[in-house]
Amino acid sequence: MTIASTPPTPPTPPTQPMSSPIPPALLPPGGQRLLVIMAHPDDAEFICGGTIARLSAEGWKVSYVLVTSGNRGSHEAGMTMERLGKIREEEQRDAAAVLGVRDVTFLGYNDGEVEVTLSLRKELAFAIRRARPDVLFTFDPWRPYEIHPDHRNVGLCALDALAAARMPMYYPDQLSADFSEHRIRQVYLFSTGQPNHWVDIDNYMEKKLEALHCHKSQVSAEVDEIIRQRARLIGVEHGYTYGESFHHLALR
Ligand SMILES: [Zn+2]
Repeated sequence: MTIASTPPTPPTPPTQPMSSPIPPALLPPGGQRLLVIMAHPDDAEFICGGTIARLSAEGWKVSYVLVTSGNRGSHEAGMTMERLGKIREEEQRDAAAVLGVRDVTFLGYNDGEVEVTLSLRKELAFAIRRARPDVLFTFDPWRPYEIHPDHRNVGLCALDALAAARMPMYYPDQLSADFSEHRIRQVYLFSTGQPNHWVDIDNYMEKKLEALHCHKSQVSAEVDEIIRQRARLIGVEHGYTYGESFHHLALR
């Protein structure tokens, strides 16, 4: 009886490259201008500073609008709201510079007093028409159990403003030959309970921490490990050392 010899098995070609390319920070079609609307100095650095650092490094023009100056965020005896507001605005400008953010605007509301009002909607619509962003970052106003009224209300007002900014019959007094309505199609809600988009910030964690430490009145050295741990938890399921998450809305 003859036993056929088995031909040698050719080596199996790898089905995946040795290292996967880094996915884009934001989903296509992306853009070049990002507006971040937040409640307090340090919100952006805490929640999405790595993504902002990455987009800046990739050439995006990033602008910040802060509804308050965080002028109640201190336990220091003798501190006043006026003095704290100035300190925190300065800290925010320093942090923005670290992340490559070119434009920082403070609307001057008092910390803890942001409400959903037509006047704030109008101010934010103006900010959107001025910055003309392709992408908006703001708070997810529908996050369950979000206890900070400023976070909830800034998110709601920013989205209300987005809807108004695209229609010329809203606030026609803002419009002129060189200042027109503006439509944003891509929204990434941060501080969300329902993430559907994750950003690899492995190369930007140190920048995020550097920016966070500009908020000297708010953070201590221990914050680093808290931030790293949070980013590890977000990143682990996606193969990142560090991640940040958003709820992405694609609008018509
Ligand atoms: Zn905040």
